[in-house]
Amino acid sequence: MSFLLPKDGGGLSIGIMGGTFDPVHIGHLVTAEEARQQFKLDLVIFMPTGNPPHKDRDQVTDAEHRYLMTLLAVVDNPYFTVSRMEIDSTDTTYTIDTVQHFTKLYNSQLTLYFITGADAILNITTWKDYEMLLKSCEFIAASRPGYSFGRLKEILGDAFPEVIKHVHLLEIPAMAISSTFLRRRVAEGKTIRYLTPETVEQYIYKNGLYTR
Ligand code: ATP
Ligand code: MG
Repeated sequence: MSFLLPKDGGGLSIGIMGGTFDPVHIGHLVTAEEARQQFKLDLVIFMPTGNPPHKDRDQVTDAEHRYLMTLLAVVDNPYFTVSRMEIDSTDTTYTIDTVQHFTKLYNSQLTLYFITGADAILNITTWKDYEMLLKSCEFIAASRPGYSFGRLKEILGDAFPEVIKHVHLLEIPAMAISSTFLRRRVAEGKTIRYLTPETVEQYIYKNGLYTR
């Protein structure tokens, strides 16, 4: 990917926004854009999961649909791109594999940030090789309604000091929306206009997604 080449005289800062994106919505887009600006990222790579380890596979929409919707959503932002890396993998992919792939590729020239919502970071100790993961990249944890940063300490317990060193908290405009909420609205025949880009909304209707 030539657009990932380092700029002259300096390193590259990249954010990876992992998610199921079933479907992508403005909560994801606002989080990524705010992270890009506040952390001066050169690029944000949206990384739709292939076989998500934390979700019931039967209930997740086909990866190709999720990839295409994410592509439609980011196409007008020059700093955003979508990677097929995880969806093209035949094995279950974990964040640690993805992060190590990029750190090996760019070596010391790269500062890598993994962007998540506060809900995801609260579960970090359940992620594969989370201790190694925390040493391999920095985390940006975006505020999300219903999940307080204050609870992070409580939940992480002894692991807290280790975890928090690598976690940068990001306040974003509160959006109490989720992919689950959008899926439910489509199933109920309710509008999702303005909750996701119009192209994504049209893609959902055209392909009859989330009707039940
Ligand atoms: P689902 O309801 O299916 O779990 P989701 O809306 O949580 O969907 P995911 O694809 O699971 O979307 O999330 C990808 C990442 O985006 C996660 O790190 C999640 O915390 C973050 N995220 C999702 N929605 C928001 C939001 N409204 N505000 C902040 N972060 C969000
Ligand atoms: Mg989620």
